[in-house]
Amino acid sequence: MSLRDNATLVISQLREAGHEAYFVGGCVRDMVLGVEPHDYDIATSAKPDDVKKLFDKVIEVGAEFGVSRVCLDGDWFEVATFRADLGYSDGRRPDAVEFTDAKGDVARRDFTINGLLCDPIKDEVIDHVGGQIDIENKLIRCIGDPVERFAEDKLRLLRAIRFAARLEYQIELSTHRAFPAAAAEIKQVSPERIGAELLNILTGPHADRAVDLLDQTRLLIHLLPEVHAMKGVEQPPQFHPEGDVYVHTKLMLGYMVAPSPELALGVLLHDVGKPPTFQKTDRIRFNDHAAVGANMAAKICRRFHMPNTVTDAVANLVATHMTFLEIRNMRESRLKRFMREPYFEDALELHRLDCLASHGNLDTWRWCLDRYLELEPEQVRPPRLLTGNDLIEMSYTPGPQFKEILTAVEDAQLEGKLDSREAAIEFVHRQFPRTP
Ligand code: ATP
Ligand code: MG
Repeated sequence: MSLRDNATLVISQLREAGHEAYFVGGCVRDMVLGVEPHDYDIATSAKPDDVKKLFDKVIEVGAEFGVSRVCLDGDWFEVATFRADLGYSDGRRPDAVEFTDAKGDVARRDFTINGLLCDPIKDEVIDHVGGQIDIENKLIRCIGDPVERFAEDKLRLLRAIRFAARLEYQIELSTHRAFPAAAAEIKQVSPERIGAELLNILTGPHADRAVDLLDQTRLLIHLLPEVHAMKGVEQPPQFHPEGDVYVHTKLMLGYMVAPSPELALGVLLHDVGKPPTFQKTDRIRFNDHAAVGANMAAKICRRFHMPNTVTDAVANLVATHMTFLEIRNMRESRLKRFMREPYFEDALELHRLDCLASHGNLDTWRWCLDRYLELEPEQVRPPRLLTGNDLIEMSYTPGPQFKEILTAVEDAQLEGKLDSREAAIEFVHRQFPRTP
């Protein structure tokens, strides 16, 4: 049974027990668009207690909101009682809810395109909010009064931008006009939620357009002032015929294809160190912008409570993005160490996008890709020839020098100069003579 068949079965079972039930929200939008929904949400007149009785496997995820998760044949569905939200004193979540009917339920939803219901048995879309015409006209429009809807929950601003960018829709005028007032209060939304939504936006299609929309709606200056500062920062035209730092970054965002979160943030932030390091003397320079940018990028990631693994990878991507300029002259050991970093594939892709969005020359990228693909795992991470214990046996005194010696052994090994334990022992005696 397909996901859709199982979802339809949930609806039939609710109806057989005398309740109303429909598909609702994103899945109906996707069905109307001819896109396969990735999940199916169900809205029903049944109360959580009724839902619990009807299905074998039910988890109550928000009983006070009337939300349950129901499992049927291995697939999980969100089943939520028709509800209206009452009061939004914190600018993000309703103070309380009240159970209502289907029409009342869609009225609390964010945009008309997300407020459609579908009766899968009659194969009929039920539209109380004008969502179908907005899909036809490619418009993101708040349900109800945009000023009120954005005041209730500022996360909706970011959701509007995500849908507008991803679907290549316009934001309808009165919805657009309601942005600036709410944007100034975006920080009422928790940093985690903002961070998650920003990632969602940046990893989806048309991230370049999304950043422009963030800028136009003043969210960029509130959320990412460091990115906003890239606007108008000139670059040497011989390396960057495309324009300023912001234009260059947006071009890169536009060339991304299904990026990882780390890559998407790495691209957005790779030149974030340029505005503060800009110098114009005989020519334009950005001394140390990669290192400065890496610190800034880590701070930005931490501001949005990104997981440490993401923060570290993003900082590394920013720190190393200029390394490619010298990579063809790098010592073999350094090159292999770089290529074995877990973030290397993203770094290589970031470099490709960086070239495409400036001079367009992909020679270095191709050279790196060839080297990367031809290297066998044991060439990049060869078995250890010596350990600290071996050094002790060789009468060296444990201390900070051990790391230096073992690194030198591994470097020589990566350079192809050592391939046995004996040779390594001899190398250590020669390179690190013990002081008598
Ligand atoms: P996606 O394809 O990204 O999952 P979606 O529209 O399904 O898009 P969800 O976050 O899964 O988005 O939310 C499901 C539905 O809940 C939405 O379609 C919308 O009707 C409603 N919704 C979600 N977030 C909000 C919100 N902040 N304010 C009002 N309604 C919301
Ligand atoms: Mg969804």
